[in-house]
Order: sequence, then structure tokens, then C-alpha cells
Amino acid sequence: MESNKNSLTVMKFGGSCLQNKDSYLQINSIVYKYMKSTKILIVVSAIQGMTNKLIEFYEKSCSEENNCDDLIEEIYNMHILLVNDILDKNRMEYSETVEFLQTNIEELKQLGRLIRLIRPSADIYDLIVSYGEKLSTFLLSKYLTSQGHKSNYLFSDKIILTNDNFGRALPLLEETEILVNEILYPLLLKDNNNLICVSGYYGATKDNKISTLGRGGSDLSAAILAYALRNHFQCKIIYWKDVKGFLNADPRISKKSSLIRKISYKEAKELAFFGAKVLHPLCLDVNEKGGLQSEIRFFNEPDSEDFTTITNEITKNDDVIKAITSIEKLSMVTLESDTMVPLSGTAAKLFSLLGENNINIVFISQSSSENNITFGIEYEDSKKVSFLLRNSDFFGEKWFKIKLDSDISLVAIIGAGILYTPGIAGKVFTSLGDNNINILAIAQGSSELNFTAIIDRKNCEKAVNVLYDAFITQ
Ligand code: ADP
Ligand code: ASP
Ligand code: MG
Repeated sequence: MESNKNSLTVMKFGGSCLQNKDSYLQINSIVYKYMKSTKILIVVSAIQGMTNKLIEFYEKSCSEENNCDDLIEEIYNMHILLVNDILDKNRMEYSETVEFLQTNIEELKQLGRLIRLIRPSADIYDLIVSYGEKLSTFLLSKYLTSQGHKSNYLFSDKIILTNDNFGRALPLLEETEILVNEILYPLLLKDNNNLICVSGYYGATKDNKISTLGRGGSDLSAAILAYALRNHFQCKIIYWKDVKGFLNADPRISKKSSLIRKISYKEAKELAFFGAKVLHPLCLDVNEKGGLQSEIRFFNEPDSEDFTTITNEITKNDDVIKAITSIEKLSMVTLESDTMVPLSGTAAKLFSLLGENNINIVFISQSSSENNITFGIEYEDSKKVSFLLRNSDFFGEKWFKIKLDSDISLVAIIGAGILYTPGIAGKVFTSLGDNNINILAIAQGSSELNFTAIIDRKNCEKAVNVLYDAFITQ
């Protein structure tokens, strides 16, 4: 088949696709199949479990008592086992990869020591966790070369620019597009069968510090690159996953969950934001902005007709409710004022304080009382928010009571048209109530695509299943 020069498929392989010899063989066969009809750009995550290990390494390195040599050895072993499994010892790629691994492990060791000398900081955290993707990208590229491809690799700090919100950096799309055009685009033009593996998850700030895009950020890396190349190619993105696509509930919670074949970016964003952790929520935003089509496909069955296509179109059908999602670990903050401090000004002060400190507000609740504000934040931000409020000139004053509840979950029903469908709220209340699940707060998303209930964490799994039966199984 003649290769179509105008088509580019950006493929993102997550940790579940980078586990053992069989998974690398699978990548190889997917690449062979697709390259007959399209150019391919591969975005690579860290190998399975590696980002968690690197975070553990960072945290342990921060506390002086710990000796992290065991962890470093574990990180080395996880990689070398894979290298020995997938690369032939007699080939050049093997020795190149082992050498690269050893050099980088040595660097990591030094960084661990450095943290003990200087203060721990978010930029060192990002630098350390980025080694997962750096190593896996080099390895995949060498593996593909050993399988007969002309494969090259490129580290993403050379082409993806971000702001300096370390740990959850935001891409600077325009600046990135310029770099991608200068550096990546010529590489893609060079040769039809040329493969390029780019590291996912991280980029760099304007002053050249490594910055990560938040957990699950490789999905976003793929979106950023496709966005930057959209004017040169007909771009499509395929996210290869360990599920068939977007399901109408988290398969780990609901055994009945089934595939959504077609979904709009608007709805998919809502799903991802409210806990369907299958794609990074921002990657959907970037895909939507670029007018890019994307697919989620099952890595173990690459030829299957069962997959999800995500486009700009909202599909009209009779099912108003597309999916049930949940965020298991959240915290809820209630600010109460006995005196009547005008709430409009209070809310403005509150949200700018949180915004300036990069706190993500997951929901704002409609409150029955006029003098309190309730909002949800990520569990990990609890301590920071509590500190910010208690130390703020305004909220730290004695007329506010601050209540923090870190034992809550959010369940949401998602679908276009929820707002205009009568009876949804009532059905949520009765189905949860009939099952003895107490609703602590409700929130209607601004986007009119979701209805959200806040409940005790112990009820989270049960609530998803109850709502699934009420709205989807029927
Ligand atoms: P990757 O390996 O690409 O990083 P992830 O592990 O981040 O993939 O995403 C896939 C996982 O998302 C699945 O294994 C599944 O358990 C989980 N998941 C949660 N909610 C959903 C949903 N609604 N649809 C599909 N998968 C979901
Ligand atoms: N390796 C990173 C993580 O585990 C990024 C990713 O896999 O998308 O969060
Ligand atoms: Mg992920």
C-alpha cells in the first residue's frame, strides 16, 4: 500500500502497554500494521509502576534518615529485567540501552543525595519523576530499531514548553508549536518509514527546568504534539489502553460497565474531570481546540471494532445519561460566618486566593444557608488549603469557621441535556436514599452536562452501582 504522506497517527502507549516481552511484541505489530498507511509518532509513558516508584524515591530522599539505595536498585532492576527480556544481548541496541540506563540511574542517585543537601522542591520532584519516561522512551526506540525499524527518539523537554506550575504544569501551546515545527517536524519529514518516539508526561519551563504535566500526563503530551502538527498533517491520536475505550462506568467499580462507541469532547471532558481516569482531562481540551479526532483502543485487541471515537460532534440519542463517574478521594471545605459578612465579596476573595495558589476546585456546592460556602478540592491539597485559609488576613479572622472534611467522595451522572431533563435530581435523591446513602451536598456543574452528589467515602462504590442501575441498566 502506498504511504499517505498527509496522514499522521500519534500513538500513545501507557504503562500497561510497557510491561513485558509480549507487550513490546504487540507494539511492534501495531506499528508495522499502521505504518503501511500513515506516518507514526509514538508518545511513551514510563514502564508500568515506575512513576510511583520514582515518587517514593523522591519522598524517601527528602527525609534524612532514609537510605534509598534499595529503591534505586529496585528501579534499576525493573528496567534491566525488561531490557534483558526484549533486547538481544548480541545487538548494539542492548549495550547502548544498558549504558544509558546505568548513566541515568547514577544521575538519579546523585539527585537523591542532592535533595538532602538543598531543600526539597517541586522542580526537583519533577526532574526526578521525569526519568521514568526518559528511560522508557530510549528503551522503546532501541527496541523498535532492533526489530528492523528506523527509529529515533526525542526528549520532550526540547519541544514542549510549559508554565512553571511544577507537578501540574500547563502547556504553552503557541511556543510549543514553534519548537515542534523547528525540531520535530523536519524529523518527521525526513523519511517515510521513520519512527520517532517522544517521551510523554513532561516538558520544560522557559528557563529550561523539567516540568511535569500531572499524573496521567502522557495523554496530554500526545494531544499537545498532534495539536502542534495539525497544520502539516491530517492528525489522528490513538490512546492504546487496557480497556476497550470510554466505558459508562469505571470497570473496577461496576462490573456491568459497557463501551461508549462515540462521544463528544464536551461529554468526554466531563467524564474525565469527574473521575473517569482513562484520559487526562486537559488532553481532551487540547484535542478539541485542534479539531483533532481521537480514539481509545484496546491494546490487547488492536484490530477489534470495539473502540471509542471522540469528536467535536455531540451524538443525539435517547440516552440522556452517558455515564456514571466518581472521584473517591476528595476533601470538602465549608466556610461559615456567623456574622453576615457579605458573601459575594467573600467568594471572590476565596477563589482568587485558591487560584493564585494553583488549587483546583472540583465542585462548588449550592448551599441552603446564606452564610456559608462549601467547595471541594483534591484530597492532596487539603493541608495546603487549610494552611492558606487559616493564615490569610481575611479568612483567618475570627468571624469565619473553617470546616475541613477529608473523608468524602463525589459521584456524578454525565450526559448532554441533563439540565433540561426533568426528574434527574429527584431520581438521584430517591435511589441513593432508598439505599441508605446520605447526600452531604449537591453540585450542578456549570456546563449543564453533569449532576453531582457528595457522599461519605465509605459509600462511594455502592453509590456508583446504585446510580448505574437507576440510570443506565434500567
Ligand atoms: P494508561 O496506561 O494509558 O495510563 P490509565 O490506567 O491511565 O491508562 O487508564 C486506563 C484505566 O482507566 C482503565 O484500566 C480503567 O480501570 C480506568 N477507568 C476509570 N474509569 C473508566 C471509564 N469510565 N472507562 C474506561 N476506563 C476507566
Ligand atoms: N507516567 C506518568 C504517570 O504515571 C504519566 C503517564 O503515564 O501518563 O502518571
Ligand atoms: Mg494514565
